[in-house]
Amino acid sequence: MVKPRIYFDNSATTMVAPEVVEAMLPYYTQYYGNASSLHTFGQEAKKALEESRAKVAALINAQPDEIIFTGGGTESDNIAIKGIAYRNRTKGKHIITSSIEHPAVLETCRALEKEGFELTYVRVSSEGIVDTQELERSIRKDTILITVMHSNNEIGTIQPVEEIGEIAARHGIPFHTDAVQSAGKIKIDVKAQHIDLLTLTAHKIHGPKGVGALYIRKGIQLQPIIHGGGHEKGLRSSTENVAGVVGFGKACEIAATNLEANADHMRKLRERAIEGVLASIEASYLNGHRTQRLPNNANFRFTGIEGESLVLMLDEAGFATSTGSACSSHKLQPSHVLMALGLRHEEAHGSLRVTFSRYNTEAEVDLFLQTLPGIVGELRKISPLWNRR
Ligand SMILES: *Cc1c(COP(=O)(O)O)cnc(C)c1O
Repeated sequence: MVKPRIYFDNSATTMVAPEVVEAMLPYYTQYYGNASSLHTFGQEAKKALEESRAKVAALINAQPDEIIFTGGGTESDNIAIKGIAYRNRTKGKHIITSSIEHPAVLETCRALEKEGFELTYVRVSSEGIVDTQELERSIRKDTILITVMHSNNEIGTIQPVEEIGEIAARHGIPFHTDAVQSAGKIKIDVKAQHIDLLTLTAHKIHGPKGVGALYIRKGIQLQPIIHGGGHEKGLRSSTENVAGVVGFGKACEIAATNLEANADHMRKLRERAIEGVLASIEASYLNGHRTQRLPNNANFRFTGIEGESLVLMLDEAGFATSTGSACSSHKLQPSHVLMALGLRHEEAHGSLRVTFSRYNTEAEVDLFLQTLPGIVGELRKISPLWNRR
């Protein structure tokens, strides 16, 4: 049998949709002006930029002038969190976040801690849901920001964002959320969910890498952390990545149009995978919440097995998967997210993340279900942990 080439790592990055590539190409070869230039080339670029801004805004129920384009999700998180922290440092130095944030948020918070800010890392339940009561109790007079992700990139849990937004609003504290993984999979509504700042990136929703957005509610003030020509309201100076932004806009437009249908499709694949794996492999478990999770995320652990070996063996068999998140997979520490669920070290080491896209098929899931039990069995044969059990 020819080795398949199946991509189940869509939380790490996604295929750029052919329609997106097509929309981008003219902005490299024909409409390549600088959006700040006065001439026709510049005007064309500027027009494309503003049309794309409206499409990104529409995906999250924001106004176009509440969107700035950035160089990706990490950059948006930094601009938002440091921007609020530095702007309000005379008011207070306390920031609340969760213990399962993406490194783009977590490491930004750690950096601020080194500068004298004080952080509270709110705990999550064993299913990975942020404890909103603990969150509210941790609010202080000098709290200047709450930042909690919209949904988790490793275990896919969807956070009670609306409730957190209400708590933040009641206390008059700005609320930032990293919605990179939610975009295109579940509904995001910055108004209904009381969100003041929101991070997006194009490459997780079938757009190009290296372009993202930050939603900033009207009236929210940030101190710039990037200085230069004053692009994007002075918050992200640098000549705009017009082609990238056009691709991002197109990706948002497609995501918004087919949101429900795509989510249903991915949810079917997810359920097929979860039910199949748990039924066919003994001592296999699902990490995260059974239902309050992204439609495209399944995250398993298998007693006695290292996630890394599993990922490598699956790759040999033609399946791209991951252990934990792509960003932490080159470290040997167990995932901070799985540890926050209360798992033991050896349990947290044995995780496998399988994340689907609208391009995956049931046949691919079935092939995976035929392949995985054999690989788990092989690895367990040579596992001291499994044999000593
Ligand atoms: C991928 C990811 C990011 C980082 O986005 P980049 O565009 O790669 O910088 C941030 N947050 C979450 C939750 C992510 O999954």
